[in-house]
Amino acid sequence: MKVKPDGRKGLPSFKDLTLEMETVSNLALFLFTVDDKSVYLYQPKNNNSAMPDHLQYFPVSDLSDIFPKWAYFAGITALHLEHWYSNNVYCAKCGSSITKAHKQRALICQNCGHTIYPRIAPLVMVAVVNGDKLLLTKYADRFLPQWVLISGFVETGETLEEAAKREVFEETGVYIKNLKYFGSQPWGFSDSIIVGYIAELDGSDDINIDTKELAAATWHRRSDLPKELTDISIAYEMMEALRVGN
Ligand SMILES: [Zn+2]
Repeated sequence: MKVKPDGRKGLPSFKDLTLEMETVSNLALFLFTVDDKSVYLYQPKNNNSAMPDHLQYFPVSDLSDIFPKWAYFAGITALHLEHWYSNNVYCAKCGSSITKAHKQRALICQNCGHTIYPRIAPLVMVAVVNGDKLLLTKYADRFLPQWVLISGFVETGETLEEAAKREVFEETGVYIKNLKYFGSQPWGFSDSIIVGYIAELDGSDDINIDTKELAAATWHRRSDLPKELTDISIAYEMMEALRVGN
C-alpha cells in the first residue's frame, strides 16, 4: 500500500512503482475497472525486492484503513481473484498448464480443455429480531472482539434461507421465521458473497450456544446496540436498519 503524506493508506498506482513500464506490465495482471479506474494485480517475483520508501506491505486486514472507500472493496475483490489465480496454476484433472480465457473470467487447460471459473462461496448473515431486541454473538476462536451478527457458509444443496435457519439454530439454539432478504456484499477475504437476512424469533428466546463456534450470544436492546467497527459493511447497514431511538 501507499502511505500518503497525511498518514492515510491508499492503493499504489503504476507511477508509484518507479520501475520500467516493461517490467511493470510483465508483472501486472488486469483485474477489473471501478468507474474509469483500472485495477491490476501486481505480483513482484520477490516480495523482499527493493520497494520505494512510500510503499509498504501491510496485513490484508489493514485494507479497511484504505482511502478512498471504493479502494477498500477494490482491494478485497483483488484479494479474492489473487486467491483464485494462485490456487489454479495447473489443471486439477491432468496436471497440464492452464491459460486465461479471452472472452470471460475463466482459466482453461490447454491439454484437456478443463475450464475453471472463480470460486465464490455464499455466506448468509442473519439479524434475529425479537421485538425490541436483537441477537448478537461473539466468536470463540477468532480475534474479533466485537459483537457480530450470526453468519455461516451455505452448504451444498441448501437454499439460502435453509442455511440461515440452520446456522442460527446450530450457533444459538433458537428458531427463526419470516426471513426477509436485506442485501448482499462481496467479501473476498473468504472468497464469498455475504447474503443478509432479517428474521423474527420463532418460539422460545432461550439461547443455547455452540461453544466450539461462539464465546457468547445475547439479546441486545435495539436502543442500545454496539457500533460496528466500519461503516461500509453490510453488517453495519443491517445493525443500523434495526437500531431504534436514533
Ligand atoms: Zn487438463
